[in-house]
Amino acid sequence: MNSVDSIERFMSGLEKRNPGESEFHQAVEEVARDVMPFVADHEAYQQEGILERMTEPDRIVIFRVCWVDDKGHVRANRGYRVQFNQAIGPYKGGLRFHPSVNLSILKFLGFEQIFKNSLTSLPVGGAKGGANFNPKGKSDREVMRFCQAFMMELHRHIGPDVDVPAGDIGVGSREIGYLYGQYKRLANTHTGAITGKSIDFGGSHVRKEATGYGCVFFVENMLNHVSDGLEGKTCVVSGSGNVAIYTAEKLISKGAKVVTLSDSDGFIYDENGIDDEKLAWVIKLKMERRGRIREFAEEFGVEYIAGKGPWAVPCDLAFPSATQNEISEEDAKTLVKNGLQGLGEGANMPVERSAVKVFQNAEVLYAPGKAANAGGVAVSAMEMTQNSMRLSWSRDELESKLQGVMKNIHDNCVTYGSSEQNSKKVNYVKGANIAGFKRVADAMVAYGVT
Ligand code: GLU
Repeated sequence: MNSVDSIERFMSGLEKRNPGESEFHQAVEEVARDVMPFVADHEAYQQEGILERMTEPDRIVIFRVCWVDDKGHVRANRGYRVQFNQAIGPYKGGLRFHPSVNLSILKFLGFEQIFKNSLTSLPVGGAKGGANFNPKGKSDREVMRFCQAFMMELHRHIGPDVDVPAGDIGVGSREIGYLYGQYKRLANTHTGAITGKSIDFGGSHVRKEATGYGCVFFVENMLNHVSDGLEGKTCVVSGSGNVAIYTAEKLISKGAKVVTLSDSDGFIYDENGIDDEKLAWVIKLKMERRGRIREFAEEFGVEYIAGKGPWAVPCDLAFPSATQNEISEEDAKTLVKNGLQGLGEGANMPVERSAVKVFQNAEVLYAPGKAANAGGVAVSAMEMTQNSMRLSWSRDELESKLQGVMKNIHDNCVTYGSSEQNSKKVNYVKGANIAGFKRVADAMVAYGVT
């Protein structure tokens, strides 16, 4: 089978069926390129049309969300839940509240989530949802009314064994509280149908840190595989939400130097490295005051660069932890020119397609999001387990389980992504795509045509 020719045919069919959904096309193409030759080698996957079926969501729910703002005006937003694939467990994936949210973005995220969740080796299917609602600049009461209205419809479609949402961009502990409070009231049960809950009402230790910690563990595993480590590495981190903050915290604790954080307005550059004290200040700034990262520069007298990402800052390791497509081809070339050794995607698909090639050609240790940021959903799945058992594991137990999951994902990527000639040369994108695909595909073959 000529895989290049057939990927073109496959993608042109997919683009026709899903017109204008560029993010979704990008996510599928990235997987299909690696998976199609693997499918060609496995009669059953081909016969059962697994890739075609896997790129079509099980169902999509789209609904109106009406709420009243503080001025008494009625507002209408659009809510979504993309239930993509439940072959290996109940639908699982976050909710994103951001003005950019549309069907293409949620289908890309839901599709990625299938593979990410499969890689954790835990029993969770793939989903994503959200709304084109912007929590920025809204009062707590407005956010509460929005979350309640959103759940008024969503509750019909979720449940602890059906679909278990969590947070994503714009959905943090405040929103999860309001969403879960409303779910509990409507469903009249206190079940763990949402993860990322507060410890006080069924949440898990280490959930809020899990994506960032997991990403650092993954990059550490990649470095160890080539007999290197994190100590002394200069790291550029983008974003200043949960993922970025706990990526920075774990890097600092491992002796690396974190020199940047950012938000959608710009980034701060702290040449001497952000320490624990400054990070504690950032946690207060972002979580308590919902402030902007610019204030860090004013507080600590460091540089603030407006309107740009931090990719021109020379570094050994990069951790894009803000949003999709935040690293362009130009950025990638600059990072490589400045000596980049490794990159872990804390965000989902933060690197543009052409930029991925730049990193791969330069043999940068490149960890795709579906592997590197799977720690978040892994601890979510552990939260589901603790909820079912009605008990709570300790912080140490959870961190060590998370470490185990990330090591296992790393080793699976090595199994499916190593070059035959040199086992140290690993294509982590290919490894993650094939390992993630295989588990879901095997389950789908076992079920027959459904
Ligand atoms: N939104 C996170 C992700 O992209 C977490 C999903 C979850 O915990 O269900 O993986």
